[in-house]
Amino acid sequence: MKTSFFSKIFGGYFLVIFVLTASILFFTFRTVKSYYLESLTDNLKNLAISLNLKVKPALETGGELDSFAKELGHELNTRITVTDPEGNVVADSDKPLSEMENLRERPEIAEALGGQVGKALRFSTILKEEMLYVAIPVESGGKTIGVLRVSLYLKDINSLLGSLRNNIIPAVAVITVLSLLMALAISRGLSKSIRYLADASQKIAKGDFDVRVELRNRDELKTLADSFNAMASKIRTLFMELSCQKENLNSVISSIQEGLVVLDMEDKVVFSNDGFQAIAGGKAADGKLYAEFISEPEFDGLVKAVKDEKRNVVKEIVLDGRYLLCSATFLRCFQQVVVILHDITQIRNLERMKKDFVANVSHELRTPLTAIKGFAETLLEEERSPEGRHYLDIVLKHTNRLMKIVSELLLLSKLEEEGVRLELEKIDLKRLVLDVVRIFEPRLKEKGLGLRLDLEDDAPPVDADLFKLEQVLINLIDNAIKYTEKGEIGVALRRSGQNVSIEIWDTGIGIPKEHLARIFERFYIVGKSRSKKLGGTGLGLSIVKHIVLLHNGTIEVESIPNEGTKFTIALSCGLSEKQSKLPL
Ligand code: ADP
Repeated sequence: MKTSFFSKIFGGYFLVIFVLTASILFFTFRTVKSYYLESLTDNLKNLAISLNLKVKPALETGGELDSFAKELGHELNTRITVTDPEGNVVADSDKPLSEMENLRERPEIAEALGGQVGKALRFSTILKEEMLYVAIPVESGGKTIGVLRVSLYLKDINSLLGSLRNNIIPAVAVITVLSLLMALAISRGLSKSIRYLADASQKIAKGDFDVRVELRNRDELKTLADSFNAMASKIRTLFMELSCQKENLNSVISSIQEGLVVLDMEDKVVFSNDGFQAIAGGKAADGKLYAEFISEPEFDGLVKAVKDEKRNVVKEIVLDGRYLLCSATFLRCFQQVVVILHDITQIRNLERMKKDFVANVSHELRTPLTAIKGFAETLLEEERSPEGRHYLDIVLKHTNRLMKIVSELLLLSKLEEEGVRLELEKIDLKRLVLDVVRIFEPRLKEKGLGLRLDLEDDAPPVDADLFKLEQVLINLIDNAIKYTEKGEIGVALRRSGQNVSIEIWDTGIGIPKEHLARIFERFYIVGKSRSKKLGGTGLGLSIVKHIVLLHNGTIEVESIPNEGTKFTIALSCGLSEKQSKLPL
């Protein structure tokens, strides 16, 4: 059960006041009573000493004392008893002597007979009342000749204490009530301040940052309230700033063309912008499962990969005929996935149009070029004048070059076709290399270049398309010979883990560093006039890269100008049919 702050403080005060009052009353009465008893004892002792002046001569002479005791006892409202040394009562103010028993055993009498002043507070068996006794020895000539005892009824003391109680208790009651009222006021004041603070903090927790606590106190609670107000206004400013920033961010996110969606770990939409709404057909809503409006296994795979591997993934997916480049990021702090979907349909369409155009043009050029080549060759056979032969040679050379470009462009178009299939078979790479190298032996001899082969025997066979892989080797070895004037070229075949690597190197002119990143682009030529002189088209490496990627492999190039170039192809030993069908 929750106890209020007020009841705690007031309860505490109440307990303290109650204990203090009770203890004060108890100790006051005890002290007053003992003080009274002491002073009464002293008075009785003095009275006994005074009476002794009369009692002593009477005891010495054996005179009559009983009537004296009765008379004086009545006057003084005090009991007076006189005994002989044996404890026999010789005078008593309150009882006839015949009713009195021997008092030797009474503690105060026994003490007085021993020469001391005897005191006792007890219940009188004779008078049936509580009494205070003081007894003194009556001595004569160094001998105790009797005991004089004076005693007082304790009811007198009690009545005295009673009247004292009657005076003290109302005063104490008034003080107690006043104290309790003060405690009530203090407790109320304290709990009111605390309640203000508690109410205000509850309002802040509910989002009301305008609340302020005004206390009239001048104590630590006032300092606390001031700090609280300062804190509330600081929170308000920060909240406004944050809201402003959030609004800015939201309007920026909403205004971007790209679709943006934030998903939680249960695949529910946490946030999405207008761009994403357009992609989702306006069906996306916060809290809904994304699968309700995007049912594309490629997208599912992307989200799953990001969640499982907690890393960024970029993937192109096709959704309702649209090409979307999806970039997904995992937010570790929020355990959420942010996906940005960039619509690249137009780019893809343009690319396709370009490819179709190139393929169509190349195709259309093939027939007239074959005709030109045929006629040029026929004319060359019949031409006898050196000048005419020279011109026909130039026509034939350029026609051949054009035909090479056309056939390479057609090959590239085929490689870029969507869903291009590889004719996979197990290929012994060592054999393939040896077969291809044999084709180039005459050219090597012609240029006076050395050939170094470093082919590991245990290189495993790879699943690849024989014709296409042969094309790769031909293009690379052709380049190596083409761009090397002296020295040697080499081919190395190595196994590394699950991969087989093929290295084709030369000691030729090399490629300057700034061109390395671009040599795989179509028609990219480093030394234009030189390459063209050597019959280059700038398409060879582009074809190589396409084929290697179709095989799910990688190709890298290292080169130092005037020292040589090395191309390294890595192919996996177990390429699956599914992978080979992946579009580029
Ligand atoms: P090309 O038909 O002109 O050789 P490629 O696509 O095969 O076209 O090569 C592109 C460019 O890369 C070439 O023009 C050439 O400058 C450079 N290149 C390719 N291979 C080598 C090599 N082995 N040594 C030096 N340069 C090379």
